[in-house]
Amino acid sequence: MMAKNEKKEVVVIGAGPGGYAAAFMAADLGLDTTLIDPEAQPGGVCLYRGCIPSKALLHVAKLKREALEADAFGLDFSRPEIDLDKIRSWKDEVVEKLTGGLKQLSKRRKIKYIRGMAAFKDAHTLEVEKHDGEKEELSFQHAILATGSRPMSLPGINTGSGQILFSDDALDIESIPETLLIVGGGYIGLEMGTVYAALGAKISIVEMTQGFLPGTDRDLVKVFAKGNEELFEEQWFETTVTDIEESDEQVRVTFENPEGEQEERTFDKVLLAVGRKPLTGNIGLDHTGVTLDDKGFVKVNAQRQTEEPSIYAIGDITGEPLLAHKATHEGRVAAEAIAGKKTAYEPRAIPAVVYTDPEIAWCGLTETQAEEQGKQVKITRFRWSASGRAATIGGSTGLTKLIIDPGSDRILGVGIAGKQAGDLISEAVLAVEMAALASDLSLTIHPHPTLSETLMEAAEAYYGHPTHIFKR
Ligand code: NAD
Repeated sequence: MMAKNEKKEVVVIGAGPGGYAAAFMAADLGLDTTLIDPEAQPGGVCLYRGCIPSKALLHVAKLKREALEADAFGLDFSRPEIDLDKIRSWKDEVVEKLTGGLKQLSKRRKIKYIRGMAAFKDAHTLEVEKHDGEKEELSFQHAILATGSRPMSLPGINTGSGQILFSDDALDIESIPETLLIVGGGYIGLEMGTVYAALGAKISIVEMTQGFLPGTDRDLVKVFAKGNEELFEEQWFETTVTDIEESDEQVRVTFENPEGEQEERTFDKVLLAVGRKPLTGNIGLDHTGVTLDDKGFVKVNAQRQTEEPSIYAIGDITGEPLLAHKATHEGRVAAEAIAGKKTAYEPRAIPAVVYTDPEIAWCGLTETQAEEQGKQVKITRFRWSASGRAATIGGSTGLTKLIIDPGSDRILGVGIAGKQAGDLISEAVLAVEMAALASDLSLTIHPHPTLSETLMEAAEAYYGHPTHIFKR
């Protein structure tokens, strides 16, 4: 017997950073809100199997590295001992604390949280299969679809064995393999490579393009590469994996280089980090007017409304970049639109951060994009070898660069590679969003000594007179 409820004002499907932010905003705006997700508490991939656990593990990796490098500053620690169970419980505690906090925030807003999987029956009805097996039919005025994405696999590769991992499995840190091959030198490949290398695995990495983080400005990636010359035992570029097969506790991998030559190697485990794809299957979209673009992303307008007027969509399912903070912003816009507010999703700059050591961050127009678009820009760089603060923390290899419109002096984009780049980028995002000029940055007094001064000095360099650089 299926339970049937009265019509809900807003039902949000998926409780990741997009979905829960949308539900919280909808409730704050006075709408009766229901939030549906298969997990016990809100959080989604970001909290359970993505951003948060990976950052907890990256913190461990950073501490280990700092302890090992501290003898340069006159501090001699003994080599850190790794207690994998303790690291795992600490990471799990962080996740539990944060998802528990979201559950409380959800309750206090009087949001109805349903643990289960939802699928559309039509443009105003959902069928929910709850965690306890019971089925419920929900009718709604508006739905916000926030089902996110899942890792991509490689064609023809069977991944059921436990030796071929995706990022979610890798974050469980069940055991540390002696040898690990990472397929894909993007965000996940570099972040998980950093974690597993710190935990003692010998890492090899294969990337099919010419370098790590395709699309990211090469001078920023160079700062990462210089600081991590020993991170990977082996690294191959312009090389693809053509086959992966398990053989006695090990995995046999076939590579193909640009010349078409094949080579076979064995590893204890393989991590596939070759991108993510939107989760749009099994949710009954064919019973609605929702349409997808040619890449499989849900088509939405500036209010994040799909072609089915009662259904909105946000986050990874609506397209690049597949980042939590982009989803959160879209979620809040969708909730505002449903509440009848004048609103639109129209960011000028979405920050991207790779949490390696050093970190890489950028926002707005990149140098690579400017080149591709044939756009005239002026690039100004401030190398951290001239930063006092960087010298005090052993971070002199960093780089801050501004991409500036030469006609108006407007800051179009910013790239930062170095310690804490992920935090430093926020000022740059504000500058791009507010259409700041290079002079706005150069005339703003920044605290000394901080890494934030590198943004000010990069702007000073644009006008030819940076304090800490002398050029004839
Ligand atoms: P990615 O797109 O960042 O990187 C995938 C890499 O795999 C690319 O460099 C690609 O060239 C390479 N590749 C693809 N097929 C290959 C093959 N057959 N052989 C060798 N290399 C191959 O994707 P990801 O690292 O899987 O991460 C997925 C998404 O998750 C990212 O795009 C990002 O949006 C998000 N993410 C963000 C963060 C963060 O914000 N710090 C961290 C992790 C993930």
